Amino acid sequence: MILWEDRKRLHDIVHFVRSSSCSDFYRKKYRVLSDSFTGSVESLPFLTRTDLARTPATERLYVSLPEVAQIGFTSGTTGATPLIAFFSEIERYYFDPSFGLDVTCVLTIHPQMHKFSLTFSKICREGTRPIAPLFVDPQAYANAAVLAGKVGADVLCATPTQAVALASYCDSYADRRAFRLLVVLSELLTEHKMTQLREMYPNARIANVYASAELGNVLLYPCTHLLDTYSTSFHLSTQALIAAELIDGELVLTYGLNRAFPMIRYKTGDYFEIDTHQCPCGADTPALRFAGRRGVDLIRTHGFEIRGASVDEFFLQQPYDVTDKQIHFFQSQTQKDTLDIRVEIVLPTRPDSPETVAQVIHSAFIETFTCTAGLTVKELMDKGVVSDVQVRIVDRVSMPGIKQKPLVQHLT
Ligand SMILES: [Zn+2]
Repeated sequence: MILWEDRKRLHDIVHFVRSSSCSDFYRKKYRVLSDSFTGSVESLPFLTRTDLARTPATERLYVSLPEVAQIGFTSGTTGATPLIAFFSEIERYYFDPSFGLDVTCVLTIHPQMHKFSLTFSKICREGTRPIAPLFVDPQAYANAAVLAGKVGADVLCATPTQAVALASYCDSYADRRAFRLLVVLSELLTEHKMTQLREMYPNARIANVYASAELGNVLLYPCTHLLDTYSTSFHLSTQALIAAELIDGELVLTYGLNRAFPMIRYKTGDYFEIDTHQCPCGADTPALRFAGRRGVDLIRTHGFEIRGASVDEFFLQQPYDVTDKQIHFFQSQTQKDTLDIRVEIVLPTRPDSPETVAQVIHSAFIETFTCTAGLTVKELMDKGVVSDVQVRIVDRVSMPGIKQKPLVQHLT
């Protein structure tokens, strides 16, 4: 489904990449297209992360190296090899990180923004209200809180997990109420997390935004209506994007502002749903809700689907406070084509009888944990899809990080 398409800009960018003397990456890809392409984005082949990983970065560079303003790379939560991305200077980013509020300084602890500090600084400077960016070490929360207090930072740019972690340090070194805006990204922002952040930062608006390291820009963000109603949904930046599609729920983007490597029909690996077609702001594109990242917040396998948000919902129903949790999916060692599930939970204090807690969670998980199709784990066991479920009380989940990972897929 096409959510947005600007044909004129699409044809221009296709012409640009096909006539380039710097790289023949797209020329080879588009060999079968007619010379004068005038069709829709849907008639172009997809660009995948595998395509990018297979081609050395310098062979898909559409400007000369001195024209590259920044070289980024993704650390690869979904792949082992870092993916290199070249970025040229771009005229405008369109994302306004002040959201029109009278704010002055953004404390940036988001890990990716360090690699994109040049881009992020420009974004901060070109909004309707220029704001001063302060970049701090992604894991040095005490340091971040002290610095925020000293310079009077009133905006925080972080992952939701980082924003929660920083809040406790603010009590010792700074004032949480000084933050008037939280710009959160890179993680599934559940309703539960949104409520938690509102309690922690009572004076802050919370803007859930979507940025892509491969595209190097913030491409979905809330309108005033969504911001005012503390919605976790957002709109596409139709100014920054040439086209956007939802294909089986996956967001596919066409972005031409970065001339170093235009991304044409790029499969992001991120899943979205339509929240509403008619947002009260009058936007001509629907408001979208992030459903998760493949293999991190969303697992599709064996004909069913599990979402990170269901993990939060499940644990809120349990009689124990859980400080962290992670659900791992393995190929069963004993039965071919079936899954083993391991649920890891971290409790605030060591219980008297960890076996009892594990047993209670184990039974509840099997009986009540539901996949998107409405199937319970028990039904999946009955169908022979899942063979074994284990619950372990641990001191720390086996794959911790500053980006929360509710689901971990070990399937090949
Ligand atoms: Zn809107």
